[in-house]
Amino acid sequence: MRIELENISKRFGDFHALNEINLSIPSGGLTALLGPSGSGKTTLLRVIAGLENPESGRILFDGEDTTASDVRERRVGFVFQHYALFRHMTVFENVSFGLRVRPREERPSKKEILERVNDLLHLLQLENFSDRYPVQLSGGQRQRVALARALAVEPQVMLLDEPFGALDAKIRLELRRWLRRLHDKINLTTVFVTHDQEEALEVADVIVITNEGRIEQVGTPEQVYEAPANPFVMDFLGHVNLFRGRVHSGLAYLEGIELPAPEHHAAEDVPAVGYVRPHDLVLERKATGSGSIRARVERTQVVGSVARVSLTINGNHETIEAELTRDLFLKLALVKGEIVYVRPRNVRVFADDEI
Ligand code: ATP
Repeated sequence: MRIELENISKRFGDFHALNEINLSIPSGGLTALLGPSGSGKTTLLRVIAGLENPESGRILFDGEDTTASDVRERRVGFVFQHYALFRHMTVFENVSFGLRVRPREERPSKKEILERVNDLLHLLQLENFSDRYPVQLSGGQRQRVALARALAVEPQVMLLDEPFGALDAKIRLELRRWLRRLHDKINLTTVFVTHDQEEALEVADVIVITNEGRIEQVGTPEQVYEAPANPFVMDFLGHVNLFRGRVHSGLAYLEGIELPAPEHHAAEDVPAVGYVRPHDLVLERKATGSGSIRARVERTQVVGSVARVSLTINGNHETIEAELTRDLFLKLALVKGEIVYVRPRNVRVFADDEI
């Protein structure tokens, strides 16, 4: 089921929660809506579901206008952060609920319900919990039951709102990998909301980055991470270092070094900022021509296989963070207070008017 949103806007009073959203959600994909708190992710999901009416714009499911249809007609499955399971029902009863309450003429037979629910419990690795009540399950198990319940009615689209938000970090990690495997098996068009960059980068086929009711970028995890459309996306997807300077005629001059910046070919000299990820800062003992910046080591920290080094540049006025492998860090034998040379790679230069 392909979903298209055309010029969707939604206001709450004077506040623009969604502003002229245009988005195409691929059929059978796992799409993440990722953005800071209040950026409109949940509102967008609710508009897709039919739980919220947009003020303007259209929503198409496989090319058909569904803007005026309600949740039931759109056949969407919904899972929220807080697994709203029925407490007085067992896992089996929870999962079968949506089928049992159907009008008689649409209701599957008892045998069909039993088969479908058992298949789902097997798929979601819940077959041993069929007779338990929600209170007898862990948070992760409850969330899997919520998913099974949503899947039981065979939705055309699955919408998940921070499905693992209430769980602790380790369970979250397990469940998101499990969601990916489940999705690969059933290939149901799925949209999930998250504010966790790592979760989106690891799990999604497509990431939609939202900010203040607008979409900043849509792309594969690799595209948004490696080729961020703007400084907001770059900054939002992990730590970045900023190097200030100027750019013109395809060259950037940042903190005393010269770098190619072919996308800024105009001759006009304008202020610019270079954005560099911590793992793209190469630390060296000696200066390499005019390509490296003198820096002072302020703090070092080794966590597992990675070493983080805080440095100051520019007469110790600005701090930057480098990340290197533990092996390289040990080889360099960096000591607090000493001088090293920093060579930035993969610098993304944005002129001030793009920021
Ligand atoms: P979070 O990650 O914190 O859940 P979000 O990106 O999902 O945030 P939304 O829940 O979509 O953001 O909210 C977008 C904006 O719209 C917020 O500023 C919120 O306060 C506002 N908003 C959402 N629902 C309503 C409502 N029913 N009435 C008034 N304002 C609302």
